Amino acid sequence: MSSFKGKVVVITGGAQGIGRAIADAFIREGAIVHIIDIKLGEWFVGDVSDRATLERFADSVIRQSGHVDYLINNALPLMKGIDECTWEDFNYALTVGVTAPFYLTKLFMPNFAPGASIINIASSRDRMSQPQTESYTAAKGGIAALTHALAISLAGKARVNSISPGWIDTTDSDIRGADALQQPVGRVGKPEDIAEMALFLCSGKAGFITGEDICIDGGMTKLMIYHGEHGWDYHTSQK
Ligand code: NAD
Repeated sequence: MSSFKGKVVVITGGAQGIGRAIADAFIREGAIVHIIDIKLGEWFVGDVSDRATLERFADSVIRQSGHVDYLINNALPLMKGIDECTWEDFNYALTVGVTAPFYLTKLFMPNFAPGASIINIASSRDRMSQPQTESYTAAKGGIAALTHALAISLAGKARVNSISPGWIDTTDSDIRGADALQQPVGRVGKPEDIAEMALFLCSGKAGFITGEDICIDGGMTKLMIYHGEHGWDYHTSQK
């Protein structure tokens, strides 16, 4: 029998993409999944940046299921760069990406079951950047640091880890050529690559892992890039 049968899982941003894949993986294992997403659908519809919405959502989860085994903070923060990003945009990204995961954790504190696990979806962008991505990157840096802080504060109550995806194609396309081959593993990631790790980190097999970040990026953050090596060419005209 699956060790996830009957477990109660909360997933933010679970309507599509990586969150959906994590939800589907838990559902296949017999878990009870509660989703909140801003997109309309058969889940709790709401914006995680709104405090009252989070309080209503947490209330409805506890009324229906009584406790939480696993919390997956996955909703996607806004990505805007320093040229275009306003004060409001930047704060919105941080609220979705950092404050909501913090506040949902706080709301569920009295209701985490023994063996509880929290997974924060960070990004390899918490440690590397493209230009014009400040709001997203700051949110991802925030959730990465929040992860180890919570792991210590929640010691004995819940393990808290993050997963940092690299490029994950959520459109089920067949990406070939340079986009795939530039990755040390030779392909772009799939949502299932992240879902598998989320299930592992929630399982008893990961019982000695807390406060950790697992980067799942096909090796992209480990590759040293030099002009003329491994298929990489630097073109000054593109600067
Ligand atoms: P996605 O756009 O496919 O799905 C994100 C989901 O979050 C959507 O269902 C959306 O409606 C929901 N959402 C967005 N804002 C919300 C809000 N304010 N309140 C409630 N729901 C909200 O994105 P994805 O690629 O599956 O990303 C999932 C997570 O993985 C994100 O945290 C993202 O930063 C992270 N990530 C993704 C990649 C990638 O390449 N896809 C890489 C690194 C990190």
